[in-house]
Amino acid sequence: MRFATKAIHAGQSPEPRTGAVNVPIYMTSTYSQAVGKEGYEYSRTHNPTREALEENLAALEGGDHGLAFASGMGAIATTMTLLKSGDHVVVEDDVYGGTHRLFKRVMENYGLSFDFVDFADMAAVEATIGGNTRMLWAETPTNPLLKVVDLRALGGLGKETGVMTVVDNTFATPYLQRPLEVGIDVVVHSTTKYLGGHSDIIGGVVVTSREDVHERLRFSQNAVGVVPSPFDCFLALRGIKTLPLRMDVHCRNAMEVARFLNEAKEVSAVRYPGLEGHPQHSLAQAQMRAYGGVVTFELGGAEEAKAFMKSLQLIILGESLGGVESLIEHPASMTHASIPREEREARGITGGLIRLSVGCEAVEDLLEDLEGGLAVIRT
Ligand code: PLP
Repeated sequence: MRFATKAIHAGQSPEPRTGAVNVPIYMTSTYSQAVGKEGYEYSRTHNPTREALEENLAALEGGDHGLAFASGMGAIATTMTLLKSGDHVVVEDDVYGGTHRLFKRVMENYGLSFDFVDFADMAAVEATIGGNTRMLWAETPTNPLLKVVDLRALGGLGKETGVMTVVDNTFATPYLQRPLEVGIDVVVHSTTKYLGGHSDIIGGVVVTSREDVHERLRFSQNAVGVVPSPFDCFLALRGIKTLPLRMDVHCRNAMEVARFLNEAKEVSAVRYPGLEGHPQHSLAQAQMRAYGGVVTFELGGAEEAKAFMKSLQLIILGESLGGVESLIEHPASMTHASIPREEREARGITGGLIRLSVGCEAVEDLLEDLEGGLAVIRT
């Protein structure tokens, strides 16, 4: 099956009793042991709607197993149960602020240690691996600076050193790149974003083909219990059916927006992997089907950036990304505010930095809105 077919059908065949083409929402906490025949006992452990989503996402990522969670952070936190006190993790230095917060402010309390390194520099990653390093953790493109990490090289380094590799594939989605197919051990997602696609759920998933990893995470999924509701699983499945259609539009619109911003004299440092000036443009070209729906750019200082965002009429000022509606945000005071200021600024998350999740609206309307905002700054 090709990707678009899997998006619609994987994990979902018509329901045998009625022929319903959509997987029913099994809104139940428990199952009658007298009547049930398939071993279902309790919905934290097993739920048919969740299983359909898990199977679907495993198929899309080209993995053997998927596990769904109540949020992207739930998926990430549960993945960390693969580690034990004393273990060390090398992390891409431009990860989502919530991931940084979980690692530094929660997981460090349990004896794990983290080093944050620029994964665009694989030699630096290798140099940071020590005797107790058990995990290499990357996002690509990164959030919010849209650096691109060489997945094949990262997978190779993991295999060479015997260290597990994990990639947060939220920004790209399996439609644009499939890390497991080039040697990465584990993929995580916030399904809240492009997979759900309509800003109506919070969810997460972990996919792997490693039996040992899956078995341990399956145990933790039940033991820790950060499971999604069947209704949210249904919404995620419904969103995923149109993932390829939406991603094509997100990527096309984002490319136009990036070009437009690149030409605007008020704007500096437009970051979009599809622009030829992006430092890893050729890597992105080789590794991704297209360049994603997020564009990051700088606009003077924090005051100008905020005035610009507030003046927009159509593009919504709000956290998150990956919905059909365009969303704009200020990483320094919103999604990445939990990172200490000095560290944030050293990484390039300045007061003037803006992250734009380009939606599926008519691109002309988006460009007009952006032009209107720039006009406010000009005056
Ligand atoms: N990973 C990335 C790249 C994200 O951008 C986010 C949220 O913005 C998360 C993980 C966390 O996901 P959630 O908000 O669903 O917990």
